[in-house]
Amino acid sequence: MTVRTKVSGLFATLACLAAWLTMAGSPPVAHAATLVIDRSCNSDQAAKLTDAFHEAAALAHGALGAYFSRPTSNAAMNWFNVTDFDSVHRVINTLQSTDNRFMGSGTITVKCTCRSYSDGAYTGANGFDACPNYFSLPPRGLESRAGVFFHEVTHIAAGTVDCTNLYPILAEINDKEGPDMALDLAAEHPDKAIRNAISYEYYAEQVYYGFDMSQITRYDGEWPFGC
Ligand SMILES: [Zn+2]
Repeated sequence: MTVRTKVSGLFATLACLAAWLTMAGSPPVAHAATLVIDRSCNSDQAAKLTDAFHEAAALAHGALGAYFSRPTSNAAMNWFNVTDFDSVHRVINTLQSTDNRFMGSGTITVKCTCRSYSDGAYTGANGFDACPNYFSLPPRGLESRAGVFFHEVTHIAAGTVDCTNLYPILAEINDKEGPDMALDLAAEHPDKAIRNAISYEYYAEQVYYGFDMSQITRYDGEWPFGC
């Protein structure tokens, strides 16, 4: 079964309009990406992916607008920790490219052929392959299906990398290992954080959902980077 759906809705349109008016001074072209769900996904998976796609588009808008207006907010310093022009510009470009991918006229294809239980998803050229763990994530909030969908699109649209995935995020949800590592990455290596996909995911999830940072403690120790 192939399901096609479009990003739409007043919120997405208004958020896109606001972002474009703020940055470009011109109105947006009202295109919206098409989600193509591979026949390898069952109907329950397809419904979850469709919901995550719409939510991830809103996350992308929210993250771009939030960062553009406040690049030194607490959330931005948590996950990127940069203030110089070139680095801030790089973060904006990454968020803009990701937003453009959701709002553009292209397709994003998702498959459900992954059988790994230690990963969430594998990125392809024009989409990703969702693993069983992906469908066990909460729909919204920290390390959610929406957030991981957004994360995957940062790879596709902006060439982000995975610096902290040596510690499988999805296996460590209960003790928040992933956010702990990403906080440490931003504090010690902001040049890597601004290329790291999950740093963008946590930033977007924090500004859009406002999860409780008191649950998260910066990792304290040596660890090898995957980037
Ligand atoms: Zn990734």
